[in-house]
Amino acid sequence: MLHLAGKPLPVVGRARMYVCGITPYETTHLGHAATFVWADVAARVLRHLGVEVEGCRNVTDVDDVLDAAAARAGARSDSFAAVQQFRFDRDMTALGVRRPAHEPRAHNHVGQVVTLAAALLEVGAAYLHEGSVWFRAAGVPARAGLDDAAAAALAAEFGQGVGVEHPADVAVWRPAVAGEAAWPSPWGDGRPGWHAECTAMALTTLGSALDLHVGGADLRFPHHAYTAAMAEALTGVRPFARAWMHVGTVGHRGAKMAKSTNNLVLVSEVLADCPAAALRLLLLDRPWSAAWEYDPAAPAAATARLERLYAAAARGVGEQGPAPAAVTAALLDDLDVPTALDVAEEAGGPAARLVLSVLNLT
Ligand code: ZN
Repeated sequence: MLHLAGKPLPVVGRARMYVCGITPYETTHLGHAATFVWADVAARVLRHLGVEVEGCRNVTDVDDVLDAAAARAGARSDSFAAVQQFRFDRDMTALGVRRPAHEPRAHNHVGQVVTLAAALLEVGAAYLHEGSVWFRAAGVPARAGLDDAAAAALAAEFGQGVGVEHPADVAVWRPAVAGEAAWPSPWGDGRPGWHAECTAMALTTLGSALDLHVGGADLRFPHHAYTAAMAEALTGVRPFARAWMHVGTVGHRGAKMAKSTNNLVLVSEVLADCPAAALRLLLLDRPWSAAWEYDPAAPAAATARLERLYAAAARGVGEQGPAPAAVTAALLDDLDVPTALDVAEEAGGPAARLVLSVLNLT
């Protein structure tokens, strides 16, 4: 059985896995890549156990940041997003990330956000104020282990507005702003809130609850906390997500990798002189939840580690022993890739071939 962050995740037969995907306004950097490669590995380890994984990775193509980036580039938001999405797909293919069964795009799910907002109003979990539908969220910060001040500071980092009845309330729907894309609703033209988009896409594609919800560490709050709270208020099914994977942030030159700090390392840049499997290994050869700093010497070290693993895999053809079971045990223990790789490198043969196969490093 897979354990994540010290908790067992028992699954029989099938697992529903939702991965918060990209806002297609910048090309894939190592921070994005780490999240999606780790999500891919969690799915592959579940499949190794015989579990069928139904995956969903959304595209947040209704977003202020995307609109602003497209305007700067002198392009329409939809065509700008299509180009960025093409580059993202190219990078994911290079990194061996399996395409999920569902790839919903936010602009195709605006109708479901309207339905979500109407239902939250009807059950009293939301209220209407000047064309906005606000989700009642007074208890959401405490459930995420945050006091109101800490929650407000994190929410402000994402440009989340302050609620009318309670500061923690969040817009499910907000009125149109001149110059932004808008859609009709019973409350006038407007657009969905970010968290509501993922709630609507997850409920539509995977149903009332998830076995695993994956995203970068910065999505823990507010995004995942509010996404879950809205879904639970609608369905009554708790918890919405049985487990979360919040993948560690990637830093470079002393700061979190971000366009605003101008320290992005793009997947395509690293792949110019590093095999794709070595970059995949570089992203995985560490605890998945820990923040880490990208070192420009790391691709060469990862390439050497991969070559040692390939050499180990060629040894001892047909020999068995306890090592393959030790590899599997390490992967089930919070996806402990470094230990699995150490066992494989030492033992060689079937253990090395197993880890290379399960982690898709061949
Ligand atoms: Zn999301």
